[in-house]
Amino acid sequence: MKAITFQGIKCVQLSEVPEPEIISKKDAIVKIERAAICGSDMHVYHGRETGIDPGTIMGHEFTGTVVDTGVEVSKFKVGDRVLSPFTVNCGECHFCEIGLTARCVKSQLYGWKESGVGLEGVHAEYLRVPMADATLVHLPDDFSWEQGNLLADIASTGYFGAELAELKSKDTCVVIGCGPVGIMAIKAAKYFGCKEIVAVDGIDFRLEFAEQNGAIPVNYLRQNIVEKILERTNRIGADSVIEAVGSKSSMKTAFDILRPGGILASVGVQAFDQLPFSPSDMYDKNIILKAGRCSSRFYAEKLIPLVQNGEIQLTDVISHTFDLKDGVEAYRFFDEEKDKCLKVLLRP
Ligand SMILES: [Zn+2]
Ligand SMILES: [Zn+2]
Repeated sequence: MKAITFQGIKCVQLSEVPEPEIISKKDAIVKIERAAICGSDMHVYHGRETGIDPGTIMGHEFTGTVVDTGVEVSKFKVGDRVLSPFTVNCGECHFCEIGLTARCVKSQLYGWKESGVGLEGVHAEYLRVPMADATLVHLPDDFSWEQGNLLADIASTGYFGAELAELKSKDTCVVIGCGPVGIMAIKAAKYFGCKEIVAVDGIDFRLEFAEQNGAIPVNYLRQNIVEKILERTNRIGADSVIEAVGSKSSMKTAFDILRPGGILASVGVQAFDQLPFSPSDMYDKNIILKAGRCSSRFYAEKLIPLVQNGEIQLTDVISHTFDLKDGVEAYRFFDEEKDKCLKVLLRP
């Protein structure tokens, strides 16, 4: 089958690889219908996250059709339409029980193989899904492949950020980073009824899109964010910040614009090891810091009814769709943010 594989920094290629097979009785094989390129795939692409084996199939966001099941899979059968969170989970451990599926004791991320251990990615024609009964979610008949795809990570992570931020109706919330996750966080903040949502980014077309979704745009390259937020909040500061970038400077900005007692909800994949503020800075400002990987198995189910009721619209973030065979070009296109590119899907 065809797959987009990691070969080295800024080097992915269209490869011919063996089709996956059932290894465990709990596995399912899924034919990929839509896959997406995520901002965190670009961490791998650029070598900001290292250790992945060359030859590993890229990607972790997909929807598809079940084409084979192990003998212990009881909730899914051949022909079922499914979505999947970007990490697999067992459904039995303490963390699965409390909805923290991202921290399942058997959690693994698609598209991450290190020293031969781990899971292949989803930028391929077929995929093996371990622990299928616990991991997969039935895609409702009225859901498109595209809608389901966004629940795999992007929409779930944005909503998770808004939930971490504990938004209330009188709040001013700032979303730093207006990529797909940031846009979804803005949509969720709107859904939670947040009074004022400020969107921060350095790219104008993203800010325009954030504005269309009800946020007040601030371009940090042209405006002083701290001053702007203080102006809008009677010099108090923001009640919460959803940080959807994962950089040291955005964490520093988040800290600087929060009011005392404010919440910093960080959902960007962090690729640095020291915070740009100290424990005493946090103490002196009573800052609440929350961070982590979204348990998208838990949130996907939670979001399905909200999408069905039309309370959250998802697919407008999808800007481009490429055929899988043109996946290498799709990576380049996404990386260079050509043609107001926001979210790229791959179609086998
Ligand atoms: Zn992702
Ligand atoms: Zn578990």
